[in-house]
Amino acid sequence: MYAYKSPWMTEEHEMFRDTVRKFVETEFVPNRERWIERKHMEPEYWQKAGEIGMLCPDIATEYGGGGGDFGFDAITYEELQRACVSSFGNGIQSIVAHYLDVYGTEEQKLRWLPKMATGETITAIAMTEPGTGSDLQAVKTSALRDGDEYVLNGSKTFITNGYNANLICVICKTDPDARAKGISLIMLEPDQVEGFSRNSPLSKIGMKGQDTCELFFDDCRVPVGNLLGTEEGQGFYQLMAQLPRERLIVGLGSVAIMEAALNLTIEYTKERRAFNQAIIEFQNTKFKLAEKKTETKIARVFIDHCIERLNAGELDAETASMAKYWCSETQFNLVNECLQLHGGYGYMMEYPIAHYFTDSRVQMIYAGSNEIMKELISRSL
Ligand SMILES: Cc1cc2nc3c(=O)[nH]c(=O)nc-3n(C[C@H](O)[C@H](O)[C@H](O)COP(=O)(O)OP(=O)(O)OC[C@H]3O[C@@H](n4cnc5c(N)ncnc54)[C@H](O)[C@@H]3O)c2cc1C
Repeated sequence: MYAYKSPWMTEEHEMFRDTVRKFVETEFVPNRERWIERKHMEPEYWQKAGEIGMLCPDIATEYGGGGGDFGFDAITYEELQRACVSSFGNGIQSIVAHYLDVYGTEEQKLRWLPKMATGETITAIAMTEPGTGSDLQAVKTSALRDGDEYVLNGSKTFITNGYNANLICVICKTDPDARAKGISLIMLEPDQVEGFSRNSPLSKIGMKGQDTCELFFDDCRVPVGNLLGTEEGQGFYQLMAQLPRERLIVGLGSVAIMEAALNLTIEYTKERRAFNQAIIEFQNTKFKLAEKKTETKIARVFIDHCIERLNAGELDAETASMAKYWCSETQFNLVNECLQLHGGYGYMMEYPIAHYFTDSRVQMIYAGSNEIMKELISRSL
């Protein structure tokens, strides 16, 4: 039988997948429940992940990275979803690393990237505010220059890794009267400034072990050398240029959930019996699973196309928005149908399908809601 293999996978990727799979099974899976209870994972596990090259695998070796392509990063998301571990916010680390890689000065890259690769530094990206999410240009957090420092005031919410982060990329206004042109990205090191505070991780319906926080800046003084790049007012354009990567990561995570949910539902329906036969023998079950297998294959082929485009430096915003919107929505519908085939057990948290159900919902909201994705796609019509 023809077995589909992602065209970007090489032998080196296969070996890396084996390492990541074993690591996730031995180091992450046994701690999954504790992280869910505590609403975050302990920073030491970031360093363990750094040791096997799970962080910054596609950043140049001169900055401490693995020197590979996005495929290595992709493997980490696939393996985490496969093992139903959603506590590790390495996707955000990857996004921040690429902001630094593309826009940072040489000094900034050497200062921050190597420790991000080892996991000593955990990063967050703080865009969303209590009063604005989708309308990014309306952020109110200000960073006004005073001598050799910026003085930050404002607050952020729903920030992934916000609890553990010791380096935060803050989206703020260096010119509060302007919209896009007033936005700058400022790297804030919480341990080195006064006036910064954060709440305990927020309670969520899914991804409960991944820390999501509110952040507060009260006359927080940050050295001007922490402005990402050298010029104020570039933040919005920097964000726009890097968002395809973030959207691809969400699309890919969605496909990985589809693959995992489908496989475990096939297994379950082969074992569970009703009316003297396995659940999978009912025509409804077979047809549902046939539909879901088809959708999963289509999603995989499309996401692999996007990965190849990103590796070639050619993934455009429109295609990345399609991947984020369509894969996350198809994923949520698929998980919902797979849960149905589990009957009452699908509603029990001891079954991974229940975690996939609650975890997958947010993929349609964050990294730009799916409505915003459709807005972006429709601009090309
Ligand atoms: C678990 C989690 C983790 C997150 N992590 C981060 C993070 O690390 N960093 C960060 O900065 N943010 C993060 N977010 C925030 C997330 O990106 C925002 O919630 C999201 O962008 C939507 O913004 P909002 O919540 O303010 O919704 P709103 O902007 O208030 O939108 C509400 C509704 O209106 C719709 N809408 C808004 N504008 C339009 C429009 N023009 N056309 C049609 N419909 C529209 C939206 O699609 C949505 O359905 C996270 C959120 C969650 C839940």
